[in-house]
Amino acid sequence: MPDLPPLRDVIARHGLSASKALGQNFLFDAQLLDRIAAIPGDLTGKAVLEIGPGPGGLTRALLKAGARVTAIEMDKRCLPALAELDAAFPGQLHVIQGDALKLDHDALMGEPYAVVANLPYNVGTALFTRWLGGEQWPPQWTSLTLMFQLEVAQRIVAQPGTSAYGRLAVLAQWRSKANLAMKVHRSAFTPPPKVMSAIVHVTPTQAPEGVSARTLERLTEAAFGQRRKMLRQSLKGVAGALVALEALAIDPQRRAETLSVGEFTALAHAIG
Ligand code: SAM
Repeated sequence: MPDLPPLRDVIARHGLSASKALGQNFLFDAQLLDRIAAIPGDLTGKAVLEIGPGPGGLTRALLKAGARVTAIEMDKRCLPALAELDAAFPGQLHVIQGDALKLDHDALMGEPYAVVANLPYNVGTALFTRWLGGEQWPPQWTSLTLMFQLEVAQRIVAQPGTSAYGRLAVLAQWRSKANLAMKVHRSAFTPPPKVMSAIVHVTPTQAPEGVSARTLERLTEAAFGQRRKMLRQSLKGVAGALVALEALAIDPQRRAETLSVGEFTALAHAIG
């Protein structure tokens, strides 16, 4: 393994003070980073897309685990620090400077890939929705290992009948397995964010036949948009939904948060 300088030294040498505007909260603990890099399983020789490598703490751990990493970073200031990693792990790292929201990840990778990212909240949720919302299934990515605010992570893995259960849970669970892999204390970050974080691990599963991602999205948007209302009220604006409720013998007096993910997909299937 190459002998790398401590991350704090790298940051000081390259003047990488954390930018609030870019949502930068860095991780320095090598053991913690190794544990995060182990969540997707054995990465030896595997293609990994890392979004937001920053000074490269998680990138180091992924490279040590034997991954071939493509890293997209928006902040130009981080490029020299990442170039040092490239030199330490020849042929294993490809850095792209740009906005991950504007790039076509599948085209960029050109092969199946695992995603690993510690991102600012807004970027993480936007990408998550995009990765999980496509009509093509299984997707080209083989797993997502993503840091979120703990509260968002809990919404992703939430079960019916809980206040955390909503659109994100249905999106994450209807054709994927999502689990909360690790909680990360706010003190692990520099600077520490206001809230606790957690890592969610998602792997695609078989999609139910004949369910359109867009129909399901419209359905959950309407149902959870008025989550305190009965379904017969909240789904009024979704063409075919009330007939589908009746056909499936789902009581229209129920509320959105009582419906299982399977009941949502059955409804979307019936609506077409
Ligand atoms: N991975 C590093 C770590 O764990 O210490 C840095 C994490 S920091 C929370 C988020 C990183 O994402 C920052 O380096 C930031 O510049 C980068 N970033 C923010 N928005 C981005 C975007 N739209 N595309 C690519 N990178 C982005």
